[in-house]
Amino acid sequence: MEFAIWAYPWDLLDEGVELVAERLAELGIGEVNLATNYHTVQTFHPHNPERSTFFAYPSAYFHPDDEYGRLRPVTNETMGDADWLDQIVEDIEDTHLDLNSWTIGCHNSRLGMANRDLTIENPYGDSLVFGLCPSKPEVQEYLTSLLADLDQRAPFRRIELETFDYFYGTGFGWHHDKFHVELGDLGEFLFGLCFCEDCRAAAADSGIDVDRARADCVETLDDIASGGLPSDVDVAGWIVDHPEVLAFAKSKAETLTALFEDLRTAVNDAQMGYYIANLGTEDSWKHGADLRKLSPHVDYYTALAYGSDRQEATADVRTAQSMTDTPIHAGILPGYPIVEDGATLSDIVDGFVETGAERISFYNYGLLPDRNLDWIGDATGPYR
Ligand SMILES: [Zn+2]
Repeated sequence: MEFAIWAYPWDLLDEGVELVAERLAELGIGEVNLATNYHTVQTFHPHNPERSTFFAYPSAYFHPDDEYGRLRPVTNETMGDADWLDQIVEDIEDTHLDLNSWTIGCHNSRLGMANRDLTIENPYGDSLVFGLCPSKPEVQEYLTSLLADLDQRAPFRRIELETFDYFYGTGFGWHHDKFHVELGDLGEFLFGLCFCEDCRAAAADSGIDVDRARADCVETLDDIASGGLPSDVDVAGWIVDHPEVLAFAKSKAETLTALFEDLRTAVNDAQMGYYIANLGTEDSWKHGADLRKLSPHVDYYTALAYGSDRQEATADVRTAQSMTDTPIHAGILPGYPIVEDGATLSDIVDGFVETGAERISFYNYGLLPDRNLDWIGDATGPYR
């Protein structure tokens, strides 16, 4: 069993890579999933010697090369002339740790605000700036260039992809959200379903009645808002009654699969993994991800199995395993608000091992208090 931990560059640099490596060795951790290109973030760091918090707009924690098209990552403003990734690559070489890239793709409000025509266009025709649409050739070029850049600049063991898909919903907590209608699972999905020109064209090519699908979405959202339809309406049942919407949503899987084929060719030296659909394995289709179709183009999937107990956490992994033969890795948050104590974490890790998951990642080094890090050491103990 292999164990990894997510981390931010400042987690490693503020404490010192060597010291962090020593601490992680005690915990049985052999890999760091390092944030390299990231979304907006505001943190609380309970054990960082230099800072209690870090705020950043979407940014890269390295200086991108010149091989980008219209979209390119914006370097983090606080980094100056330094290059956090370069520095960590250099410092980590002398430790036992393998380095992986934790890479955010389409969830980028900064690039979205500056390029509204490349964002998700919801059924009402409005731009959702938190999500770039992967049907857009410019976005595809950005994602491919980003992976090629990362693959060439650092000896990553793995390059892991987060939100390299259709990021629907209300934005995962964007600034000062004002949603005073309970959208529910169905409403969240429909509100963020992309009907941009490229998504519409791809679906129309497959013979889908896009106007019908769009009208169904708007009508349903209006019904939820007016109270005519309960927000907890069963999504599966609704979708059976609205086959054009299902066909439209599923048509995105073709586009995403073709994109992943290109992404794979951009990554030569590292393994490539995909984080399954932001905390909902069974919802991956809503993000345009068909795990079977994507399988030839990834080395593994990570199920973000953030369950509060063994049964809940392992169910996510087993669901993922039932959807694909590609190896499944598991991710868990061993702290608030998911896991309450060390015994539960140990039980969850035992459960992950039992599922046959090949690797477990813990979220995340700089955000967890020391006592939670100790839980990790206890949980990994039997498998070292
Ligand atoms: Zn689109």
